[in-house]
Amino acid sequence: ESQFGIKEVLNQLGIKEINDGTSTGQNNFSNGTILESYSPVDGQLIGKIKTSTEEDYEKVMVSAKAAFQQFRLMPAPQRGEIVRQFGEKLRKNKEALGKLVSYEMGKSLQEGYGEVQEMIDICDFAVGLSRQLHGLTMHSERPGHRMYEQYHSLGIVGIISAFNFPVAVWAWNTALAWICGDVCVWKPSEKTPLCAVACQNIIAEVIKENNLPEGISCLINGDYKIGELLTKDTRVPLISATGSTRMGKIVAQVVAGRLGKSLLELGGNNAIIVTPDADIKMTVIGAVFGAVGTAGQRCTSTRRLIIHESIYDKVKDAIVSAYKQLRIGNPLDEKNHVGPLIDTHAVEMYKLALEKVVAEGGKLLVEGGVLSGEGYESGCYVKPAIAEADNKFEIVQHETFAPVLYLLKYSGTVTDAIEIQNGVAQGLSSAIMTNNLREAELFLSVSGSDCGIATVNIGTSGAEIGGAFGGEKETGGGRESGSDAWKVYMRRQTNTINYTTSLPLAQGIKFDL
Ligand code: NAD
Repeated sequence: ESQFGIKEVLNQLGIKEINDGTSTGQNNFSNGTILESYSPVDGQLIGKIKTSTEEDYEKVMVSAKAAFQQFRLMPAPQRGEIVRQFGEKLRKNKEALGKLVSYEMGKSLQEGYGEVQEMIDICDFAVGLSRQLHGLTMHSERPGHRMYEQYHSLGIVGIISAFNFPVAVWAWNTALAWICGDVCVWKPSEKTPLCAVACQNIIAEVIKENNLPEGISCLINGDYKIGELLTKDTRVPLISATGSTRMGKIVAQVVAGRLGKSLLELGGNNAIIVTPDADIKMTVIGAVFGAVGTAGQRCTSTRRLIIHESIYDKVKDAIVSAYKQLRIGNPLDEKNHVGPLIDTHAVEMYKLALEKVVAEGGKLLVEGGVLSGEGYESGCYVKPAIAEADNKFEIVQHETFAPVLYLLKYSGTVTDAIEIQNGVAQGLSSAIMTNNLREAELFLSVSGSDCGIATVNIGTSGAEIGGAFGGEKETGGGRESGSDAWKVYMRRQTNTINYTTSLPLAQGIKFDL
């Protein structure tokens, strides 16, 4: 443990043996049961957290509501300055927070640092955006009238996040929400609660140093039940929820039942199409990183490779041989490519997927299996597997959150491949590997990929913060991060001002008194 400096990391981030899972910027109060956080890296107990009760939740909401009344009055560029300072603190804590992400979630150290870098990047983006919360001006049909729209702060934003991006998803939401003048209440995954405490400790410093109302950033902890308090709460106009499609379907209905807004970032079933004009070397790098990176636990992980029959064997052989070079082990050791799954339940799901694909008629090309012995004591390490399969298999239609890659063969043209790629319920990320302009353009056209993200000669995995991130169909339809994703965190108002002495009506209607 100490060889990776975990103790010092926890110290630096203010993580204690027992932590308060309920906090506003300055005050902590948790009266719930204790939640223990074990590392999938070595099975060790990292720390404990006191979860939130309904009464704790109420205190948080009162604080958040009061903070909003004040924070919305602060000019947006000044709110941007707060987010800039937050980004600076993240820079200082990048190494420690990245290590904690790696240790509590199990992703590689490089990916842990990458996740914190993503938080820093979205802060930079949000700072610039704080001077660009533009509305349009329109020409009124009435003389002497001016018409324009403005964006106002929305209120309390509820953030529900998944285990696999334990810190970045929160920042994607908060950095934008804060510059928009909203305040945030975060319900992190019960699998990565300490990462959330660390983030809250960092923003709490900024809040204190700037004498801001503490409820700008609130944290609640626990399982889905504490999440339900948020989704049902009419004081929360927007729920941003990241996680499984199963969760999203429940949350969407609860929020819609009170006509609240929801931003949903749910499961993917991402494919790369490999056409006869693909660069095989690039394909192998993109596909292997996409399938085994974060041990296949990214929403954008590559699950399916749709390969043209004319190059099928060549691509298959290259990928199978690349898998032989993968090193599986402690993700804090930079020599390893693949770390553990989040917990032993995920390992069971992985094993079940391999059984199912075989039962449905698939063939394992790289067998997989659970690792045991020295270094694998947590029981969470599995070997990345590859199976030849058919898109119609039930298991292929599902997202298994593990490093299982399905090879699918297509004949005919790229249109046939696109049909297979779109032939699943999810619609997050998609890619085509080709040097053929016609194929690439068709893939990106209206009759091409039906996903929220479609790329050419890049894998499915990973995204830059500058673009709007999210997916269609069962992925939930939400967009976060770049482009104009900020608009969901604000309410739009259309304003018309009459600067004449008469009152002409719209549509030429006459009403004389
Ligand atoms: P999960 O659905 O099990 O849990 C996600 C969060 O939802 C947790 O905080 C959980 O406590 C909460 N939750 C569950 N049921 C709830 C309910 N009824 N009401 C309120 N909150 C509830 O997901 P997970 O296992 O943590 O994460 C993996 C999933 O997340 C995968 O499907 C992955 O694709 C998806 N994901 C999607 C994106 C994206 O941007 N599209 C990003 C990351 C992860």
